[in-house]
Amino acid sequence: MKIASVIVDVPTTQTDRPFDYAIPDVWQGFIQRGMRVIVPFGNRQVQGFVLDLKNHSEFSNLKELIEPMDLVPVLNDELLHLGDFLAKTTLCMKISAYQVMLPPALKAKYDKYLILGNDTELQQLPFELQLLFDKKERVLWKDAVEVMSASYLYREARNGMFEVIYEVKNKGNKKKITYYRPAFSEQEFKKRLESVTLGNKQAQIIQFFLAYFQPHTVASIEENVTGARNSLKSLVEKGFLQKEEHEQYRDPYQDRQFVRTTALALTEEQQQVISPILKSIEEVNNDVFLLHGVTGSGKTEVYLQSIDEVIKKGKEAIVLVPEISLTPQMVNRFKGRFGNKVAVLHSGLSIGEKYDEWRKIQRKEVQVVVGARSAIFAPFENLGIIIIDEEHETSYKQEDSPRYHARDVAIERGNYHQCPIILGSATPSLESFSRAKKGVYTLLTMAKRMNQSALPKVEIVDMREELRTGNRSMFSQALLEKMRDRIEKKEQIVLFLNKRGYSSFVMCRDCGLVVQCPHCEVSLTYHKVSNQLKCHYCGYESYAPKTCPECQSEHIRFFGTGTQKVEEEIGKILPEARIIRMDVDTTSRKGAHEKLLTAFQEGKADILLGTQMIAKGLDFPNITLVGVLTADTMLHIPDFRASEKTFQLLTQVSGRAGRHQLPGEVVIQTYTPEHYSVQLAKEHDFIQFYQQEMSIRRVGQYPPYYYLALINVSHENLQLVVKVMDKITTFIRHNLSNQARVLGPAASPIARINNRYRYQCLIKYKKEPNLIPVIQKAIAHFHEEQLKKGMTITVDLNPFTMM
Ligand code: ADP
Ligand code: ZN
Ligand code: ZN
Repeated sequence: MKIASVIVDVPTTQTDRPFDYAIPDVWQGFIQRGMRVIVPFGNRQVQGFVLDLKNHSEFSNLKELIEPMDLVPVLNDELLHLGDFLAKTTLCMKISAYQVMLPPALKAKYDKYLILGNDTELQQLPFELQLLFDKKERVLWKDAVEVMSASYLYREARNGMFEVIYEVKNKGNKKKITYYRPAFSEQEFKKRLESVTLGNKQAQIIQFFLAYFQPHTVASIEENVTGARNSLKSLVEKGFLQKEEHEQYRDPYQDRQFVRTTALALTEEQQQVISPILKSIEEVNNDVFLLHGVTGSGKTEVYLQSIDEVIKKGKEAIVLVPEISLTPQMVNRFKGRFGNKVAVLHSGLSIGEKYDEWRKIQRKEVQVVVGARSAIFAPFENLGIIIIDEEHETSYKQEDSPRYHARDVAIERGNYHQCPIILGSATPSLESFSRAKKGVYTLLTMAKRMNQSALPKVEIVDMREELRTGNRSMFSQALLEKMRDRIEKKEQIVLFLNKRGYSSFVMCRDCGLVVQCPHCEVSLTYHKVSNQLKCHYCGYESYAPKTCPECQSEHIRFFGTGTQKVEEEIGKILPEARIIRMDVDTTSRKGAHEKLLTAFQEGKADILLGTQMIAKGLDFPNITLVGVLTADTMLHIPDFRASEKTFQLLTQVSGRAGRHQLPGEVVIQTYTPEHYSVQLAKEHDFIQFYQQEMSIRRVGQYPPYYYLALINVSHENLQLVVKVMDKITTFIRHNLSNQARVLGPAASPIARINNRYRYQCLIKYKKEPNLIPVIQKAIAHFHEEQLKKGMTITVDLNPFTMM
């Protein structure tokens, strides 16, 4: 094949198509589909992905591609196809679709190196390279191509002489581990010993090697011969030992001992739900199961045993969990069962660590990946199951381009591999549950908790009533009493504070001014530690003012981050209580999250106080009381999913209590106790909630009855924004069926971010086969011209945030 068609890394609509490049002779037979290549574009060089190879092009005078970046394709056929799917269904550029599937190390600024293959001897190399590699374990690519041609290097790399590796500049260096190995055979070794005299230490080392004739790490040599380190070098010089370095993956979990677990005997309910799943694995069916199981019903064990079956068949598994619940506890359950067959991908890893985990998958060294959203793109080639835990979580939807939902990608991949998919949740999304009711998904239900433990008793406290009786504290009498009781009994308490509840803003008590970002239509957040005000949208920072910027009053109040305030208050009323606080401030350092949880698990505190991040996954036997300080703040966000989110969160939080022998209790404090999402969370009644919420969605014409599409235009010039949005809206309104509801143009809920005005148009529809072409046409008209002027137009199909 003489021609490669390439998607280039130039994100504009005109370049969002393959360009043909001639493959120069030296690269003939080398370039493959799915490799990254460097190509000339305009008068610069850019990266690109090879989509296809062919012998003829409709264009003449093709430019030649410059060189490949990879030895083996980074995208296989399935992922290339998936990129197409992403581009079509989310209206993103192809280049962003391919890039989102790769680990960030392959996107960032990197250095390219050559390292020797595992069996390569220095003497085998041409002498130019010998010089470069002398006393070095790796050589910069750009130095190597000075002495040998790139095509020679690539070809030999393919034959195993070298490896080509990428390293992000100053980040993510590969860890090397040093071994010493005997330089000759055992006999030869002994023979040579007769003709030399060795120092005492050296002789001891040699004895050790003769006893265990194999390569050893320095650590293991030193364990047997104290102080060996300094003598190793002379043994290398005398020719007895050879030093070698092996790449060691940076396994973030390597220092930890995993207690190996084996399959538990399944309960009757677990057996009932797993049998159709196993059948689907056996028969290679592409079923989508919705596993609706109350908190603590043992869903994870069902996942583990399904995966076990998949591995036995020589296939692979992807498990998605929300970022926030990728806790060590969760990871341990998978590592404990499958050991080093598991790769873990989450945002807490460094770029280098992510790259290592990704390479384990690519090299087929693992069969299971547990990760957050983007792990759905794990480059497995023989998928046997995909599991999405807490499937209702909105974090499965990416908010930037490509605006994909992991669930849709999972279903597409499941279809390709003909493998089952499990969506699991105690509070399924309305979309998924209604699909299950219609029979699109197969509904599996687990209604009982493990060990016959009851779902916790939930008490709702009306905070208005507390105010009336003169209690101005953030703790109701009921909650306070129960907290005292637990502390006395040495049982543990989880206190949950919804972040939005006590947002940390600055308000003037005289004129009521809430200090706003000068560039955005949002209030600034107060950071107590640095005494600064920050904008979470544009990054604006200023020092906290001493007087009101509006009326100069000195009665300006800073609300510290909610959790800090709660901590202070507990300190006053329950001074004996030991508290662990978990919020962005206390968990930003790497590993902090885990340390705090471990400390709590070991009983080093009575109260775990935190935000959303403690709502999920916690499974500690001693927790018998959960308090929700403010249940209703989330009800008031401008989002049609507000009730659903409230119900989900309250259910999740309540699920932390009484999961084992000790019975649990939950106290929910609220100003709107009568709200159905609060009441039904108290009853643990998902089905009733589902029915009630569905009727509201039907009347309001919201999902799952209608689909949504959101178009957003932003620019510094307000008039321009309104004009363009108006034209787009009008065009769409005229070109869709009259069943579609086209709302707008309207100012976005956050009407300005970073000095850019934002307008939107919301489309509600049931069936519009032409929707995508119509939207494309509507915005294409403006795109090129306006983009040059700095206008941004985004399209979000099935949006989850309307801000
Ligand atoms: P869920 O994910 O549904 O909230 P978990 O999977 O965390 O529930 O299970 C709750 C508890 O029950 C865990 O401690 C788990 O180890 C235990 N468990 C699950 N299945 C079994 C079983 N078949 N036998 C005994 N214990 C089980
Ligand atoms: Zn004021
Ligand atoms: Zn701002």
